[in-house]
Amino acid sequence: MAVTEQTTESSAHESEQIAVENPATGEVIAHVPVLGGDEIAAMAARGRAVQPAWNALGFEGRARVLKRMQKWMTDNAERVIRVVMSETGKAYEDAQLADWSYGVAAFGFWAKNAEPYLADEKVSTASPFVKGKKLVLRYEPLGLIGVIGPWNYPVTNSFGDCIPALAAGNSVILKPSEITPLTSQVLLEGLLECGMPEGVLQVATGYGETGAALVEQVDMIMFTGSTATGKKIMAKAAETLTPVSLELGGKDPMIVLADADVDRAANLAVMYGMFNGGQTCISVERVYVEEPIYDEFVAKVTEKARSLRQGLPGDAGTIDVGSMTFPPQVDIVERHVEDAKAKGARVLVGGHRGGADRPGNWFEPTVLVDVDHTMECMTEETFGPTLPIMKVADAEEAIRLANDSPYGLAASVFSKDVAKGEAVARRIQAGAVCVNDALINYLALELPMGGAKASGMGTRHGKGGIRKFCQHQSILVTRFALKDEPQMYPYKPKITKGLQKAIKFMYGRGKR
Ligand code: NDP
Repeated sequence: MAVTEQTTESSAHESEQIAVENPATGEVIAHVPVLGGDEIAAMAARGRAVQPAWNALGFEGRARVLKRMQKWMTDNAERVIRVVMSETGKAYEDAQLADWSYGVAAFGFWAKNAEPYLADEKVSTASPFVKGKKLVLRYEPLGLIGVIGPWNYPVTNSFGDCIPALAAGNSVILKPSEITPLTSQVLLEGLLECGMPEGVLQVATGYGETGAALVEQVDMIMFTGSTATGKKIMAKAAETLTPVSLELGGKDPMIVLADADVDRAANLAVMYGMFNGGQTCISVERVYVEEPIYDEFVAKVTEKARSLRQGLPGDAGTIDVGSMTFPPQVDIVERHVEDAKAKGARVLVGGHRGGADRPGNWFEPTVLVDVDHTMECMTEETFGPTLPIMKVADAEEAIRLANDSPYGLAASVFSKDVAKGEAVARRIQAGAVCVNDALINYLALELPMGGAKASGMGTRHGKGGIRKFCQHQSILVTRFALKDEPQMYPYKPKITKGLQKAIKFMYGRGKR
């Protein structure tokens, strides 16, 4: 791959290199440099220097580049999918659906919607003091945005936020995870080919310290990753009052009510519990099933999970579940399964990490029952291919347990009675809840997505997903006016009393 050669040869930091591994095989596939504070400062200066010209291109000029990039993504589908697979170990379909196709859609979406979302808004007012004046809310790019991303979806969660930030007229420095830095470099190459000026988007490879150095340099930080790192970033950003938007971890519950379509609920539980090796912030992490259908649901999930094909990612349709991406994550998954077993849970499917004779990071698709909230698998983010299922007496117990979590990212509810399903959904403390579905709300780029509680602050997608990269500026214009106005200096008792009377007349006639 061109990226490998380029970054290895051109790095000034031969001694500070990250060896990027294919997590499915353990093979080193590339080296990228570790950038330090001075390099990040130089990149920031460069990004700031080119930003005004990028902004001056206007929405149309920037949209042209993004639309070309959309076409580039479709022309380079195989290359993008393969580079994602090589650094994450995920199945071809996982890379296609949740990375490549998201990216294809996102370039077009922000090219089209940046302008309407950021167009000047006329505001009208009820205040008699400002009646007749022109009130406008406008959005100006903040300048230089830092995007720090995780390893689970190199296009969607890491590169994805760069797209609206750029569409708004900012320059961007992206710090991808040290585990998956290659996809971002391929996409940067694409954007340069599509006419994005050099320096408008830069990729800063390195470890956590590189991310910390980035926080010091930028006008806003968009972070996606663990809740623990999100707290550190927010604390660091507080030193300079740099705004942050945080997309953090989750422990997403699925609730299956007694009147659910059991086949659909079981299929989706397995699909969205195991999708991407379970390494999705909004994956199904725990399931609560009403007692009357519990046995049937567990039997269907067990059958489906047993039939999953796990193996080396290859061509389309060859496997269902790939490897895990981040070696320490395999330890967390194993710890959660062992903790559950020690406390009385039963493993119906899987339950083991890949054998010692097999290189790479593997954990079997795993189904656990007889679980409860004393177990880590029900309370802490597992982020692996596990599906713990708990029997509940009724919907009330399911709602109580679903909300018994510091997290509040996403959730799902299954019931043939959609009104009942929606009523339950409205009582779940989560940023997004699907009824008779799970996870795919993420593909509706018009629909805001963001976490409640310890799952984050701010949203991506929709209007909020681009406005967060802008300074909101309110403008008031007085067009036709007197040289002086009655309420101005010097204050006069008669005018003051008259104003009070008028305000009481306007606002004081309602009931207490
Ligand atoms: P981490 O929090 O470990 O890392 C995220 C990014 O932050 C990486 O690029 C990392 O660099 C960098 N980083 C680490 N320490 C610092 C620091 N002190 N200052 C600045 N940057 C730092 O998360 P993971 O990569 O392990 O991703 C998994 C987590 O992400 C899960 O909790 C998951 O739920 C969450 N997530 C949330 C999503 C959402 O939309 N809410 C979407 C996807 C994932 P390096 O990798 O080099 O250490």
